[in-house]
Amino acid sequence: MHREGHYGTALMAAAVVVLVAGLPLAVITVPVVIAFTMVPDVDQQIGFIKHRGVTHTILFAVTVGGIVGAAVIAWIQFAVKEFEVMFTVFPWGVQPLRTGAVMGAAATLSLLVHIFTDTLTVGSGRFGIHPFWPVSSQQIRFGFCKAANSWANHLLFGAGVVIFSTVVWLRLAFPWLPSLSAVFGVAG
Ligand SMILES: [Zn+2]
Repeated sequence: MHREGHYGTALMAAAVVVLVAGLPLAVITVPVVIAFTMVPDVDQQIGFIKHRGVTHTILFAVTVGGIVGAAVIAWIQFAVKEFEVMFTVFPWGVQPLRTGAVMGAAATLSLLVHIFTDTLTVGSGRFGIHPFWPVSSQQIRFGFCKAANSWANHLLFGAGVVIFSTVVWLRLAFPWLPSLSAVFGVAG
């Protein structure tokens, strides 16, 4: 799928995050979901990596999520030591492990959504998606449209905007709805 379609499905995933996690956690996870959604297609810029190859696998999604999580934990621990004061601005206080875990999970989710979105296209052979590599070279392909189909890209983007906006409105209108934020001990 092209950029527009990927941002559409990323917004749908972000809507699920807002719905399940609640707004306080969504504030730190939704930007990660949006920011990472085009990462697998960096393979188009790097000559020696095959497009729709290793960056379109579950292994890649989990590895990058782990690196993001570890980096966030390390950064928060460092920052807390160096600039204690700045963290008093966060209503939920300092929770490096939890914050790192949820941000890492958000990155993995974003990459998995990208891979899934590409399986909707007709790409096969050289452009096939093999998400289980290296465990299995099974190709997954739903083949609804070409990646460049502008109607499909518009539709996904439009649906993403509508679904995401609706869920944010729901959360704002009904703040008492249960969420994971409460489980994580985050205020709100
Ligand atoms: Zn892709």
